[in-house]
Amino acid sequence: MGPTKAIVKGSAIYEAKTGKLIKDGLNTPEEIQDYANHHYLVLPVVNKACQPWLLDGEPIYCLRGTRYENLNDEVLHLAKCPDCGGMGIRDDEPMVESDCIRCVSCGHEFDARLEMMES
Ligand SMILES: [Zn+2]
Repeated sequence: MGPTKAIVKGSAIYEAKTGKLIKDGLNTPEEIQDYANHHYLVLPVVNKACQPWLLDGEPIYCLRGTRYENLNDEVLHLAKCPDCGGMGIRDDEPMVESDCIRCVSCGHEFDARLEMMES
């Protein structure tokens, strides 16, 4: 089992899958992050503007630094945009043998091989 995927609403943390309240009364982003760090929780990935990544309306979680998953524990080929911290999605062009990733926030294209450690 990996860490529990959580979402933040206001000053409270909820279990993402069940909506169950984990902890409330956390008044700053630092307190929320601190609580998550100490209770084996993982928070949704956000960009540099603190906007959460959303794929099909669901938050994305980053595990072990390079592995991105959705709420259903499906591993996704995503990478963080070096410019804005936004969500980069692999271009699914069957003719192109590349790891080109495009940021959904700013449109920046970058090479996923720099971001991911895949064999
Ligand atoms: Zn970007």
